[in-house]
Amino acid sequence: MQIDNSLGRQYAGTGLGLALVQKSAQMHGGKVLVQSEPGVGSRFTIEIPWRQDAIAKRDIALLAAASPEQKPDGGEAANEEYPLVLLAEDNPQNVMLVRGALRHKAWRLLVAENGMQAIELAVQHKPDLILMDIQMPVMDGLAATRQLRQHPDPIVATTPIIALTALAMHGDRERFLAGGVDDFISKPVDLGLLQEKMKLLARKRT
Ligand code: MN
Repeated sequence: MQIDNSLGRQYAGTGLGLALVQKSAQMHGGKVLVQSEPGVGSRFTIEIPWRQDAIAKRDIALLAAASPEQKPDGGEAANEEYPLVLLAEDNPQNVMLVRGALRHKAWRLLVAENGMQAIELAVQHKPDLILMDIQMPVMDGLAATRQLRQHPDPIVATTPIIALTALAMHGDRERFLAGGVDDFISKPVDLGLLQEKMKLLARKRT
């Protein structure tokens, strides 16, 4: 509901935004709260329950599902054709966001929680693309990228890498590119832009 329509006229939208937010919140077991006062303004609050252990378990299950040691049978076999993306990201909410964007798309997803794990999974699974968060515990994304670039296996060393970064300071671009990333995208991640970059950079499976 818009008390003053002037903004609404200038920037006409579909009016779906809030409905989508509410639906999305509900799907995550949460809710949207509204406080509104004419002449003062409106405050929308989103509450989403978060259980780290549940998210971690699901990631482990996903890792197992994507592992080539566990040969999928039936319909999943076709998914072997999909490019494999390794997402190295320590923030569970960002993992959920990317996973949500890629769900039902022609990608397979592996998740690492830090740079060290990213290297292990990259060596083991030889992903077609890595989405590399820069700020991570144990080993940051830039250090992991440098190590990957020096890996003796050329398949591993040349894995396309898109850095995900909250840092947007002057000189970062040069620093990331010098560190060996192919491209980067700043947070909060624009999921549409991310998928465009992913399609451009992902190694073609033959
Ligand atoms: Mn991080």
